[in-house]
Amino acid sequence: MTPPDRLPGAEGRARDVTALVTCRQLARVYGRGTNALVAVHEVTCALRPGDQVAVMGPSGSGKTTLLHLLAGLDRPTAGRIGWPVFDDRPRGRIGVVFQGPSLLPPLNVAENVALPLFIAGLGDTEARQRALTALAAIGLADLAGSLPEELSGGQAQRVAVARVLAAEPRLIIADEPTAQLDSDHALRVIDLLAQVAYRLDAGLVIATHDPLVAARLPTTWTMSDGALAC
Ligand code: ADP
Ligand code: MG
Repeated sequence: MTPPDRLPGAEGRARDVTALVTCRQLARVYGRGTNALVAVHEVTCALRPGDQVAVMGPSGSGKTTLLHLLAGLDRPTAGRIGWPVFDDRPRGRIGVVFQGPSLLPPLNVAENVALPLFIAGLGDTEARQRALTALAAIGLADLAGSLPEELSGGQAQRVAVARVLAAEPRLIIADEPTAQLDSDHALRVIDLLAQVAYRLDAGLVIATHDPLVAARLPTTWTMSDGALAC
């Protein structure tokens, strides 16, 4: 049997690649007793460097719950999850674009994008330069000095994407990152995420309702009532 940290590569070649994340029989139940709600159950999956996956499924099917588990932001109530490539300590190594608002109101756009880089210990000049480069790549260089309250929902969403791109993580997890964008901007954001993930040999997981977005990525997983079809 293939051990979970030695899975075949994304292109079908046998690559001796350590998986970014592996899940076995994963479950997440919210609440207890009669209030228990099974958001994710019996999910078995793995992501390797270079994998690019769209997670589709109706609202309430468990996409956000699964993405938070993959990011190490939440713990499963059953099953096993591991991040072999990070020695099973994923903290700070995974970039997440959250479904809801996530910019810090007192910081301007460039400072928001640079914040994870400061936290990672980068110097002022390099952090600011990388933030500006990521903002330019996503077409928002003009807004570097704006405050989050001055942005539209779609602009704020793109800034959150730029923040992840600037950090250059090995695993990028984006939860409906185009929900507030028109289709032109949506596809540009997805293509940018896919290009950067390809350049970094990172894994990419994007939850989306939009079949046009899913069609941009080579692999689609479908969630239904907490179950995942890979
Ligand atoms: P999706 O992202 O596909 O819309 P979610 O993962 O947000 O799905 O939600 C899956 C199910 O779990 C839904 O029924 C939702 O109401 C429930 N749920 C999500 N978060 C919580 C929570 N913090 N507490 C209780 N139930 C939750
Ligand atoms: Mg969701």
